[in-house]
Amino acid sequence: MLYRALGKTDTAPSLLGFGCMRMPLNMNGTVNYDIATEMINYAIENGVNYFDTSCVYHNGHSEAFLGDVLSEYPRDSFYLTTKLPSWEIHSLAEAKSIFDEQMQRLKTEYLDFYLLQALNRHDWAKMKELGILEWCDELKKSGIIRNFGFSFHDNYEVFEQILTYREWDCCMIQFNYMDADDEHGGIKAHDLCEKLGVPLFVMEPVKGGSLSNLPADLNQMLVDINPIATASSWALRWVAGFPQVKIILSGMNNMDQLRDNIETLSSYTPLNEDEKSIIEIIKVERNKLVNNQCTYCNYCQPCPNGVSISRVFKIWNDYSVYNNREAVKWEWFTFPKEKKPVSCTYCGVCEKRCSQKISIREDLIDAQNILNPIIKDWE
Ligand code: SF4
Ligand code: SF4
Repeated sequence: MLYRALGKTDTAPSLLGFGCMRMPLNMNGTVNYDIATEMINYAIENGVNYFDTSCVYHNGHSEAFLGDVLSEYPRDSFYLTTKLPSWEIHSLAEAKSIFDEQMQRLKTEYLDFYLLQALNRHDWAKMKELGILEWCDELKKSGIIRNFGFSFHDNYEVFEQILTYREWDCCMIQFNYMDADDEHGGIKAHDLCEKLGVPLFVMEPVKGGSLSNLPADLNQMLVDINPIATASSWALRWVAGFPQVKIILSGMNNMDQLRDNIETLSSYTPLNEDEKSIIEIIKVERNKLVNNQCTYCNYCQPCPNGVSISRVFKIWNDYSVYNNREAVKWEWFTFPKEKKPVSCTYCGVCEKRCSQKISIREDLIDAQNILNPIIKDWE
């Protein structure tokens, strides 16, 4: 397993991080302890030492499971991360209460990393207003958390505001070859982390599994170059090629994925120029399946009613390109309601500014009609 030190510290997490948001489950939705324990043990035996969870994963079962299984190991043999769900917090007292429950479930006296989860413009303002930053600084001073960071879901402008607001120990963004040039982060976000020296943790390197199942003709292009490498391993190698990436989180839910990821990041070789050009062709081909030609430039903003037009189109287009229902379901469910098309009053201001002359109002309705039914059973 490869390890990348965080700055000048002696903290050296494994490049492959075990994301515990997609654990194997029983029929009743609880974590399947037998399979999941076997996976964690196998990961540790093969050098994985970084585990990431949140109280919202599997309704808290993910934290409880991780607390149980990791309590069998010396506490200083692994790094443990959990997160504060920023969108669910309405007071400092509520945050403190959630934190206490997290520590109990995780059976630990300290956390290696505590992240404000899924920050966006709205929740970032709220975190500042409620005094969450000062409280986390106090936790850090007392040693209960050792590193303080955030995970992120909004556009680059907001990312820049948050990252430059204070000194962070780490941050986590979605990063993969399909989203490399994305206005919501991508390589620009990586480069800013590099410039500021903030360790970058990556989520969704395989885009919620979407890049592990390519259409047959595109997959064949990879097979022609390397008949035994999986499509997922290509995606991980692409991400690992960026120096500021210190941890690549993968939400694995079976042993085959785990073995493949360990193998990829234990004997990693960067993509060569030929391989990179194949990835570029795949990007172009897949992007032909989008619903509209939104470039996510945000020239249409601000919307007087707060609709996050480019984000709605991104999720809608991703669904069309990858047909990955589970990934989209989570994203649409956690997307703030006030930014959804339901807030649109059809004023038309945005369409006058759109660089691509998109019928934004019509497309917002189409997007909503496709995406809302997917989360119906969660609301
Ligand atoms: S048409 Fe809708 S999305 Fe566009 S600016 Fe008006 S309210 Fe916002
Ligand atoms: S201006 Fe047009 S292309 Fe740009 S983000 Fe808005 S809808 Fe998309």
